[in-house]
Amino acid sequence: MHVPQIPHLTAADPELASLVEGEAQRQHDKLRMIASENYVSEAVLEASGTVLTNKYSEGYAGKRYYEGQQFVDQIETLAIERARSLFGVDHANVQPYSGSPANLAVYLAFLDPGDTVMGMSLPMGGHLTHGWSVSATGKWFNSVSYGVSRETGLIDFDEVRDLARRERPKVIFAGGTAIPRTIDFAAFAEIAREVGAVLAADIAHIAGLVAGGAHPTPVGHADVITTTTHKTLRGPRGAMILSTEEHAKAVDRAVFPGLQGGPHNHTTAGIAVALREAAQPAFREYAAQVVANAKALATALIERGFDLISGGTDNHLILADLTGKGIGGKPAAKALDRAGIELNYNTVPFDTRKPFDPSGIRLGTAALATRGLTEAQMPQVAAWMDDAVTAAVKDDDGQLDRIAGEVRDLLAAYPMPGHRA
Ligand SMILES: *Cc1c(COP(=O)(O)O)cnc(C)c1O
Repeated sequence: MHVPQIPHLTAADPELASLVEGEAQRQHDKLRMIASENYVSEAVLEASGTVLTNKYSEGYAGKRYYEGQQFVDQIETLAIERARSLFGVDHANVQPYSGSPANLAVYLAFLDPGDTVMGMSLPMGGHLTHGWSVSATGKWFNSVSYGVSRETGLIDFDEVRDLARRERPKVIFAGGTAIPRTIDFAAFAEIAREVGAVLAADIAHIAGLVAGGAHPTPVGHADVITTTTHKTLRGPRGAMILSTEEHAKAVDRAVFPGLQGGPHNHTTAGIAVALREAAQPAFREYAAQVVANAKALATALIERGFDLISGGTDNHLILADLTGKGIGGKPAAKALDRAGIELNYNTVPFDTRKPFDPSGIRLGTAALATRGLTEAQMPQVAAWMDDAVTAAVKDDDGQLDRIAGEVRDLLAAYPMPGHRA
């Protein structure tokens, strides 16, 4: 059963309510290993579902375009103060609707259309909004991209430096969606300084690890930091832009009135709650557990013959090339999902297959750590993954269903925030 309970929704719209209940049960019954997902706390769920959704508040605290901001101003200020204190930054904007609009605001703040931006290419692990061709950021800006080394699977800083010297980007993005290793923000900063670029650290995936002390911070290196709030940071779907005082005005103007209208105040409240949670000692334990789980899982997968990009992980994320297992990423992901193991197919660097049917899978351990799983369960998780991939090669749905049952049995002992049996 969904928690908080939804009796009014059930009475008013049973069709929709039953779909919500179905999703809560699905999230309960599966090993959720999509690297960008998590479980938020029930406190965050409650804050996100409040009457704050009724309120318009274009502008910023003390400078709004609508009346009635007596409480909303305080809520947004609370979120901002908590973000500043948690990450140790001068300025925080908590209004971006999500990670993609947050990144667009960076373009609006620092670039004109046609200017050059540099980011990691999508198939190498970057994000669409770092200048990829199909994104507005690649269509409206001159985008140049760096990748990883074929031998090591790591970012090649000689390549990044050469490209930056040649192309003179105005903004350099550091960060991505499929980077299993520590990001060297100091190395990016040195290059950005040399060519006079703004360094934008996009920590959407690793924000919770940064906040919890399990990944080095970009603060002190990056000019602006963008992040989603719903991945490892474990808040509601949303985003923030953190910056030095120098860039505060440009960032705020870009978000509003540059790009957005009224902020989503119910989401801002959920972000404030999540930031408070992230400042507690238990969150540091969670962040450390996420990384410990990923390392333990990587070790167990390697022992079972999985080919991991860069040979392992430093963070919450693992990228595996399944070529040696004799199956593509997509059929493997589908089979794993049937086996109760939810992850996504993904390109691997220098992939020879197409993006819609690539060679790899991407997985993460944030949601498992939130659920209470530790290193102790990771060899079992790796064994299930291996069995499921083998079953997929043999088209053995019976095996997949057996694994799904075993996964459900294990997870019955680990309560899920947002669900009661
Ligand atoms: C998830 C992600 C985003 C985009 O976030 P959305 O909320 O999906 O728009 C941007 N950058 C990176 C690196 C991400 O991982």
